[in-house]
Amino acid sequence: MSKRDYYEVLGVNKSTSKDELKKAYRKLAMKYHPDRNPDDQAASEKFKELSEAYEILSDDQKRQAYDQFGHDGVNPSFSNAQGAAEGFSDIFGDIFSDIFGGSTRTRSRSQRGADLSYSVEVSLEDAVKGTSINLDIPSSERCSGTWHQCNHCNGNGVVRMQQGFFSMQQTCPHCRGEGEIHDPNCSICGGAGFIKKNKTLSVKIPEGVDTGDRIRLSGEGDSGKHGNGDLYIQVDVQRHKIFERDGKHLYCEVPINYADAVLGGDIEVPTLDGKVKIKIPEGTQSHKLFRLNGKGIKPLRGGSKGDILVRVLVEIPVKLNKEQAALLRKFKESISGSENTPMKNTWLKSAKEFLKGF
Ligand SMILES: [Zn+2]
Ligand SMILES: [Zn+2]
Repeated sequence: MSKRDYYEVLGVNKSTSKDELKKAYRKLAMKYHPDRNPDDQAASEKFKELSEAYEILSDDQKRQAYDQFGHDGVNPSFSNAQGAAEGFSDIFGDIFSDIFGGSTRTRSRSQRGADLSYSVEVSLEDAVKGTSINLDIPSSERCSGTWHQCNHCNGNGVVRMQQGFFSMQQTCPHCRGEGEIHDPNCSICGGAGFIKKNKTLSVKIPEGVDTGDRIRLSGEGDSGKHGNGDLYIQVDVQRHKIFERDGKHLYCEVPINYADAVLGGDIEVPTLDGKVKIKIPEGTQSHKLFRLNGKGIKPLRGGSKGDILVRVLVEIPVKLNKEQAALLRKFKESISGSENTPMKNTWLKSAKEFLKGF
């Protein structure tokens, strides 16, 4: 099945701003949201299509790639079934908590426990190789004391509101969607309806995660009358002292000796598995980029491993002693006007021609 143009899906055009894009998505998402269209396959497909389009176009980098290469240039996390389910609730959570002013606790479905979100920082090394971390999560458990049916919504957890011609469904404000009201004098919880509990979870951080990735732990959120909410772990990868990450590639700068740059030689460069030697040819100019194929990151969503890009910075020697300075002066005399400096020679030629015009 060929995909529709993302701009067309959202009913916007290429020059649409981020804010306008969000508005357009919000409007359509409200219309086709599965909660409002239960058992409507067509609406569900529409909602998925829309979420995918928004996922791509709301991300500057992905939008640029899409503008340039179309569908081939982007790889939405919706492309597989599992991704669809996860990405779906991702955007859903973000945009709807935005609309309704939610916090990190969002009640995604009435009578289910709240979803929790938690952010963790991991080092670049751990992000690349994957790791396991223990998290202490404050969560809450539904109180086992007495509950009465909520009279306001007749136990449905939702109420209908008439607004002009429209009838809107809303989470019941009295029982907050529980459909039940807890005994206000409960001796177990003091009437709150829940008991705070800390739990320790071992969370697997998969190989290749990047800042902004979310890991969903199904059923590890707050507990409710009809099951638990989910726990979302938001990953934040720390800055590294040496490497800068760009997707699956790693980038670093390595200062090299002036003489090595001139004569060529072996230099040591860092990788995530330790140091490796690379050969640099004679006459290497400063800022030249060397690529270490396959030494980068294995992407989380599959595909080939990235590379390490090493930019060499030729260091001009400082604080020369008399003897070194004398040697260099002698060296300088030997190269003036020679073919040892092609860059300078070309520049001088151009400058000369340019100055002829005066
Ligand atoms: Zn109610
Ligand atoms: Zn209680």
